[in-house]
Amino acid sequence: MKRRTEMSFSEKLYLGEILRGLAVTMYRFWRNLSLHGLHAVGLYKDVRASVTTQYPDEYKTYPDNYRGSHRLTLKEEGSVRCTACFLCATACPANCIFIEAGEHPDPEVEKFPLRYEIDTLRCIYCGMCVEACPCDAIRMDTYVHPKIWGFNRADFVETKSVLMDRSTILAERGRTALMEDQIAGYEQEEVELWERIKN
Ligand code: SF4
Ligand code: SF4
Repeated sequence: MKRRTEMSFSEKLYLGEILRGLAVTMYRFWRNLSLHGLHAVGLYKDVRASVTTQYPDEYKTYPDNYRGSHRLTLKEEGSVRCTACFLCATACPANCIFIEAGEHPDPEVEKFPLRYEIDTLRCIYCGMCVEACPCDAIRMDTYVHPKIWGFNRADFVETKSVLMDRSTILAERGRTALMEDQIAGYEQEEVELWERIKN
């Protein structure tokens, strides 16, 4: 059978598809609105209204292989494992890792990062930095996602201490702690924002 490759005039107008899309959207909108209204007065509680997770008020437990925000892993005595070799920054396709290397006081270690920063507005969470690292110094197993709001670019730059603290929190308080802290941070920022608006 010969395959048809050209679109007809009516298909090129996309009118049918646009109308179909609008019908689905409006159906979902009115269904959810009606159900939420009914739930508010105690009716049809067993019929689920929407499937959207109301983040950050609600959040899901991510699977073990979830590629979340970065952390810099630590040595046993708590110092950063990174040797400032720049392989992660070189592999990064978004050019969002900034490293400033310094001489390490330990003669056994050549270098360490004086500064290590990730611009999360540029990061595409591809995991290439993790793959490139020869000493398991950077991981994305924090189960948290990037900051969702801020007021300037600096608010989205994760510093060495932020990246190191994630490793400490994960080791000491477990995987849910990072998410709890992130949400507590959002709540605190919201309070501070309202204070600023009021004053
Ligand atoms: S996850 Fe990808 S884009 Fe983000 S810092 Fe790592 S290499 Fe760069
Ligand atoms: S995180 Fe790994 S790849 Fe990146 S500079 Fe440090 S040691 Fe090198």
